[in-house]
Amino acid sequence: MIDTNTHGGQFKLPMQGIAQPTRAEVLQLPRVHISRHPVMVHKVTALRNRLTQPPEFYRLVKEIGALLAYEATQGLALEECTIETPLESMQGARLAGGIGITPILRAGLGLAEAFREVIPDVQIWHLGLKRDERTLQALEYYNQLPHQVTLQICYAVDPMLATGGSAIDAISILKQRGITNISYVGIIAAPYGILKLSQAHPDVDIYIAAVDECLNDVGYIVPGLGDAGDRQFGTF
Ligand code: URA
Repeated sequence: MIDTNTHGGQFKLPMQGIAQPTRAEVLQLPRVHISRHPVMVHKVTALRNRLTQPPEFYRLVKEIGALLAYEATQGLALEECTIETPLESMQGARLAGGIGITPILRAGLGLAEAFREVIPDVQIWHLGLKRDERTLQALEYYNQLPHQVTLQICYAVDPMLATGGSAIDAISILKQRGITNISYVGIIAAPYGILKLSQAHPDVDIYIAAVDECLNDVGYIVPGLGDAGDRQFGTF
């Protein structure tokens, strides 16, 4: 078997020498939605700051997640219902069908919590994918997806869209379970991850708070914020 990680006997870093698209190239893609809200920009800047400690970092992830949830749920379908106000009966509307959130463990947990605060009756389907640091391939280690699927939409959530590997695999797993309407929600994306995800799943809407310059040789987003899991959970 050919080892693609060595070059003439020398260990090759996973993104070393790999061509990456520019921000401008991916901002034009049809299903890519980048938040322009000034409050979002303010909060993402605070999140990136290396001085921001885990309790504050987690709080910011949840606040940013709530804003992203608000943007990503804009197109949800409603069904009419009749209710009684204290004064009279009226025709109202409620969200039609269930809503699923799939946090990609463990970094996606803060965003899932944020969605749950915006829409309390979401179903949370945990999916554990870990990336192999050497190859950047996503490996599934935990899967709590139900067998009965009756959702109007499922949101795959993970704060960092880097190479796109985990997002692509998570969405493929959701599609194998019969979910047809899926959106991806993240905080910071690299142009490379956006392009890869759009190419692999052109039917999926991508909601992101900020698009950065590129990935470094080891697959971290630059300027980024470091490791989103470690910074949420204090595991440095
Ligand atoms: N995952 C992270 O947490 N940070 C990155 O920059 C890339 C992947």
